Amino acid sequence: MAAASNGEGGHGQGRFDVIVVGAGIMGSCAAYAASSRGARVLLLERFDLLHHRGSSHGESRTIRATYPQAHYPPMVRLSRRLWDEAQADAGYAVLTPTPHLDLGPADDPALVAAIRNGGATEVALAAAAAGDDESASASWPWAGVFRVPDGWTAAPSELGGVMKATKAVAMFQALAVKKGAVLRDRAEVVDVTTSSKRGEGEGSIISVRTSSGEEFHGTKCIVTVGAWTSKLIRSVSGLDLPVQPVHTLICYWKVKPGHEQELTPEAGFPTFASYGDPYIYGTPSMEFPGLIKIAMHGGPPCDPDGRDWSTGGLVEPVARWIDAVMPDHVDTAGGPVIRQCCMYSVTPDDDYVVDFLGGEFGKDVVVGAGFSGHGFKMGPAVGRILAEMALDGVARTAADAGVDLRPLRIGRFAENPKGNL
Ligand SMILES: Cc1cc2nc3c(=O)[nH]c(=O)nc-3n(C[C@H](O)[C@H](O)[C@H](O)COP(=O)(O)OP(=O)(O)OC[C@H]3O[C@@H](n4cnc5c(N)ncnc54)[C@H](O)[C@@H]3O)c2cc1C
Repeated sequence: MAAASNGEGGHGQGRFDVIVVGAGIMGSCAAYAASSRGARVLLLERFDLLHHRGSSHGESRTIRATYPQAHYPPMVRLSRRLWDEAQADAGYAVLTPTPHLDLGPADDPALVAAIRNGGATEVALAAAAAGDDESASASWPWAGVFRVPDGWTAAPSELGGVMKATKAVAMFQALAVKKGAVLRDRAEVVDVTTSSKRGEGEGSIISVRTSSGEEFHGTKCIVTVGAWTSKLIRSVSGLDLPVQPVHTLICYWKVKPGHEQELTPEAGFPTFASYGDPYIYGTPSMEFPGLIKIAMHGGPPCDPDGRDWSTGGLVEPVARWIDAVMPDHVDTAGGPVIRQCCMYSVTPDDDYVVDFLGGEFGKDVVVGAGFSGHGFKMGPAVGRILAEMALDGVARTAADAGVDLRPLRIGRFAENPKGNL
């Protein structure tokens, strides 16, 4: 990876056009999008690149268009297109397309809205499995895997898929470097200041200082620091952003002997989300043959700088769900075979924060945060949006794709700064 040479902005080129702070999926995608436009970009990461201490590491993430909030499906479709463009640019794939299945209590309002907004179609899986519905049996050969409880509904949809998470972040970082971006890891940003505050008039300069005392200068800054957002934004601007870090857990379970092939993407097996309490999600068996990822959304609040890594309460509800819904195919007897910890950054309304920081920073600092456990799929779209906001002051690609960014405004917390956390 290229290295920034000094506080002049690296490469002896003067200041950067854009300094991106935080190299998870969002910062890496933003660095790629901005450098693809010819901007001089610096991407700073406090830990090692591709570390496991944030939200974007691991084997897999899912993409789906079925969202309870109507403003996300257009962003998913934009992102899906940009995933393809990035893969074409890289020359290799990080996304495996699959169908997606939503299921849960038929009267669950979030599920009902997700089916409607995502254009999914409810199907009687038992009838499909029994061959009573020929078209559904042909389309969804895995229908018999799920035992849908009485009073529940199930709705498969076409737009699903699995992204290799760490591989995808690495891809966007490599693409950004290819476009001329400078990447620096082990560089913790401790302060961001603007020359406008110092009263130096028009054409503000953003200065970014690291814990080792290095200083970098840029015209614009994009802050994508995940679970550290509240801390950094509070110390930089005094703004109290209610982005709560949450400790969560991924579990891989043993597929029962003889069913290993049935649960793979090659067999057409879907990603899935089961609504209600607990909300359970899963991916087809792919990264560890003979194991399948099934986990529970959410977890206890945590301090990203002082995690206790406890996983209490995040396994048993998943085992109970498997025993009820996939009992013939997945073995819970020995518990999960592999466990991997991760963090969410949760907002009070589960909506992202994608906006200018405002205040003394005006439109010179853009924040992408609070992805609330459902942001990975949107990485390429969010990265493009953040880059356009920084470079142009407006997210044209999003507007053209019908993406409504108003629900993601920073100012929505102003009346109730702590929300309902
Ligand atoms: C278990 C799990 C399952 C998930 N499943 C899905 C899924 O199926 N589909 C989906 O769409 N989403 C999913 N998500 C959510 C998705 O992974 C996140 O929304 C996304 O990764 C957030 O990315 P980020 O770049 O905002 O944060 P991060 O990946 O945490 O990146 C922030 C980066 O900023 C760095 N940083 C912090 N402070 C500083 C500083 N001061 N200076 C420099 N660098 C700093 C951090 O070290 C970190 O690398 C899941 C998340 C988890 C944890």
